[in-house]
Amino acid sequence: MLRRVLLAASASERVRQLITTAPLTRDVVRRFVAGDSAADALTVTQRLLGEGLSVTIDYLGEDTVDPDQATAVASEYVALLELLARAGLTVGGRAEVSVKPTAVGLGLAEHGAKTAAENIGRICAAAGAAGTTVTVDMEDHTRVEATLRLVSDLRADFPDLGCVIQSYLRRSPGDCEALAVAGSRVRLCKGAYRAPDGFAFPARSEIDRCYARCLRILLDGDGYPMLATHDPRLVAIAKSRVTTIGRDPGSFEYQMLYGIRTDEQARLAAEGAQVRVYVPYGNDWYGYFMRRLAERPANLAFFLRALASRH
Ligand SMILES: Cc1cc2nc3c(=O)[nH]c(=O)nc-3n(C[C@H](O)[C@H](O)[C@H](O)COP(=O)(O)OP(=O)(O)OC[C@H]3O[C@@H](n4cnc5c(N)ncnc54)[C@H](O)[C@@H]3O)c2cc1C
Repeated sequence: MLRRVLLAASASERVRQLITTAPLTRDVVRRFVAGDSAADALTVTQRLLGEGLSVTIDYLGEDTVDPDQATAVASEYVALLELLARAGLTVGGRAEVSVKPTAVGLGLAEHGAKTAAENIGRICAAAGAAGTTVTVDMEDHTRVEATLRLVSDLRADFPDLGCVIQSYLRRSPGDCEALAVAGSRVRLCKGAYRAPDGFAFPARSEIDRCYARCLRILLDGDGYPMLATHDPRLVAIAKSRVTTIGRDPGSFEYQMLYGIRTDEQARLAAEGAQVRVYVPYGNDWYGYFMRRLAERPANLAFFLRALASRH
């Protein structure tokens, strides 16, 4: 129930106004967001790489309604990739970028898919020049078909372009079967959005079971699985499957979010697993922050306590 309210609030302009202008909200946001600027993202990336982790950087923003804004977002990514390459952080793909399709134009009223494809193509070209990769995030269920088509088309020119599958969607095992092919980078997550029952599993237990099923399809396949979860039971299932089938530790990776279960990130890396941290930065943190609150009621309590203690 609380989760539903918070996800609804993530789309409300009034609640956005209230929360983004609340005094000292930013201190709490800082737990999940590297900072406002590319320089902040670079600093955090340097630190995480120094700790033996890899990174995927997200320039925060979504639901762009203006083509110029979509182009500006792509330009930010191009500049970021140049910055990362100059700092030597893209070697071996240790720092890559994640892009939301609606941030680069997918939701535009006219030529959305074409604009997003052009912008992501530009970002992929810059990533290629920097020696690293791009992963296209997955947004709500209304965008899934268009996003998968976009990735499939762009992979003709950029075969290492990664995509995301969400286990809360009923269709996902089928998508995993289609994507578990050589060279295919696929991030598997539970899904941070809501969808009607016809599209999505309503119960957490079903979402978890579907994750375990998708995880197995991807690990047993020929692609490069990127297992994005903080759920210890699912990490244990992945480990067990990797041991059973003898998968090389370099042939897949775990992924977690910046500021969440950092102890587990370090522990997995110390065991020799590849671990990538998703590092968001930028001013437009509202939607991302609200999804993190929705995932865990304790975060909301932390947020409210932090605000109350400052008044
Ligand atoms: C690298 C990465 C990329 C992602 N990309 C996408 C994407 O493209 N599209 C998309 O829809 N979703 C994406 N997600 C979000 C994902 O779908 C889930 O909403 C999120 O990861 C929580 O699910 P979980 O698997 O961690 O399991 P949960 O069952 O939600 O959590 C398991 C445990 O992890 C910890 N935990 C989880 N979330 C939090 C939190 N917010 N704060 C504190 N502790 C927490 C808690 O200990 C919790 O008990 C991504 C997640 C990661 C890690």
